[in-house]
This record gives sequence, structure tokens and C-alpha cells, in this order.
Amino acid sequence: MGGILRSEGAGKPRPNLKGYSREALRERFANAGLPPYRADQVMAWLYGRGIDDIHAMTDLPQELRESLAKFWDCRALELRNLQTSSDGTRKLVLETHDHEVLEAVLIPEERRTTLCVSTQVGCPLACSFCATGKMGLKRNLGVAEIVDQFLRARELLSGDDAITNIVFMGMGEPLLNLAAVKESIRIFTDPRGLGMAPRRITVSTSGIVPQIRPLLEIGPINLAISLHASTDAVRDELVPLNKRFPLKVLLGALREEELISRKRPVFFEYTLMKDTNDSLEDARRLSHILEGIPGKVNLIPMNPHPDARYQPPSRETCDAFAAEVHRSGLRVTLRRNRGRDIDAACGQLAARSLSEENSIVQPPGG
Ligand code: SAH
Ligand code: SF4
Repeated sequence: MGGILRSEGAGKPRPNLKGYSREALRERFANAGLPPYRADQVMAWLYGRGIDDIHAMTDLPQELRESLAKFWDCRALELRNLQTSSDGTRKLVLETHDHEVLEAVLIPEERRTTLCVSTQVGCPLACSFCATGKMGLKRNLGVAEIVDQFLRARELLSGDDAITNIVFMGMGEPLLNLAAVKESIRIFTDPRGLGMAPRRITVSTSGIVPQIRPLLEIGPINLAISLHASTDAVRDELVPLNKRFPLKVLLGALREEELISRKRPVFFEYTLMKDTNDSLEDARRLSHILEGIPGKVNLIPMNPHPDARYQPPSRETCDAFAAEVHRSGLRVTLRRNRGRDIDAACGQLAARSLSEENSIVQPPGG
């Protein structure tokens, strides 16, 4: 039995019990001659009780616990640093087994608590205004490393507080790590996993067009598109990926019957940058280019950081832009910046080395 639970091949990284959806874990267990309910029991410990010490899973036979502990991992991330913003936003700095550093952000609001998760260490797409983009890509995160961001964050909540929403808007481009993102969503939405409704999950992409449909096969989750411009000339500068998938191609894909028939609005993220994409003409052009796509525009004033020359427009300009978008008939919100004083706002996530951060280490809950 234990032998078949072993990971294939010497030198391969150990498999992680959080790396598999229920169906996949049951299959792995079945191959080892174990009944499906053993996988369910393991999941109840991992997600229901938040226990990731295999030896503590007392309803598993001793022999199974031993062979699982010998060949499998179930903890993927350690919390190394926690920073709390004046507005209550908390940034978790997390470390993988191989000492890569990534960040997740917990955003409490009046009626919900949103967790922003990372999908890659760094990002290869090099958007000119994004701090993560300046790092380049270190590597993709594994399923367990995505799921453990939720678990480390949940451990920080007290009493009845719960994570109510997940946004894939941390470090990295989710659609360049699609298989892991989809498997993590299966765990997030499984009633025996983390039990989140799909409509409470949003995946944001800069527009890897061929991967959009495969992503949405997962179920009625929300799709956010990082638009940021109303012309190809400006978008080419902000989101270099636009040269491969220009506006016409991206927006054309969103107009296809299959996507429209989902009856869910597409969220268009639009980061407002002073003198770059903030004119009233841009605002008016948005309604033309988005015609025929049931959507909502989320305006976010640029979060400035030393790696990019862009600045947020004045408050008046942001308000006027929002009003113009609204006037043209689109649904629009102007978001407040959260967590800006701790570099936890959109696009400010960029892992610095842990030693640099040591001076501000706080114990969990501190
Ligand atoms: N790679 C994905 C998801 C992560 S970025 C994507 O690009 O959609 C999450 C959001 O933050 C994106 O809309 C991104 O364009 C935006 N963003 C990046 N840098 C920003 C900054 N400095 N200020 C405001 N928003 C930013
Ligand atoms: Fe990558 Fe998104 Fe940043 Fe662009 S905005 S570099 S796609 S993380």
C-alpha cells in the first residue's frame, strides 16, 4: 500500500496532499488500494479542521498515517512576516520549501473579507506599471502553494470572521499557470474542501486569450480583464501582451456566444494613470470598445512605486473619468486603494528578500 503512495521517481519533489482536488486525491488513493473515504477523511483534516500534521489525523489507521507521512507533504507555505495597514489590510509574506517568497493580501471590508492570492513567483509579462512584472518570472506556484495562502490567512482570523471572497490578483498571471489555478479552484469550491461559492471567486488576467475559455469551464466564477487602455497604442505600452492579443482579438473573444451565455458580467480593471489613460476621450472610447459585452468597469487609481514612472491622476480627474464612463452607459466603480502604506495594494506586490523584511517581523496575530 504505502509503496504505491510513494511519489514516482527518486529526486522528484514530494507530492502534497493539498495538491489534489477530491477527485484526484481519491484516484491517487484508489491506485494505492485505498477506499475513497480515506481521501475524504484527509480532506476533512486539512480543510475542515485546518490540521496539516499527518500524525494528528487520528481516524486514519496508524500504518496509513506512517506511510503518508513518509512520502507526502501537506504544508506548503510558512508565514514569515505579517504587515498590517492602517486600514486593516494585512499582507502575508510567505515562504515556500525552496525558499521562494510570495505575498497574499487579506482585505477586510464591511460585509466581506477578501483574500488576494498569488499564482506565480514574479510574472513574465512585464506590464510597465506593475511591481511584480519588474521581477520577471521565478516560477509557477503549485496547487498546494495556492491553497495554503488561504489556510495561512484563515489562521489569522478570529471568532466568526471568515474569508468570503477570493481574488486571483496577487503576484503572477493566473492563466499562465492554468492547471494549478483550476485545481486550486476545485479545492476552494468543494464543500469538503474550503466550501466557497464559485461566484465569490474572481480570476484576473491580462488577456491570455486562448486560456480564457478553458478557465471558465471550471464553473460560474468571475472573470476580470486587466484592460487599462482604450487604444492598442496605449495598451501596447502598458501591457506588452497586447502586441500578441490586441484589443480586437481580446474583446472579440469575450463577445463569443459561449461567454455571453454565461450571463455573468466581465469585470474590466482599469488602472488610472496620470496623462496616460485618464482623458475623457478615453472614458468615452471605453463604451465603444466594450459594446456588446455585459461588463462592469473597475477604476483603480495607480498605486505608485519606485519601479514605475506612472502616477495616479488627481481625485477630480478620477471622479470625472468615472462620471464620463457612467454617462456613456457602462456600470462603473472607482475603487479606493487598500493597504497602500504597506505596499499591499494592487500591483505593489514584489517579494523582497526575507532578510530585508526582518526588521518588521510580527508574530502571527501580532
Ligand atoms: N496578472 C493578472 C493578475 C494580477 S495583477 C492581471 O494582470 O490581471 C492584479 C491587478 O492589479 C491587475 O488588474 C493589474 O493590472 C493591476 N495593477 C498592477 N500594478 C498596479 C499598480 N501599480 N497600481 C494599480 N493597479 C495595478
Ligand atoms: Fe503580470 Fe498582471 Fe503584473 Fe502584468 S499586471 S506584470 S500580468 S502580474
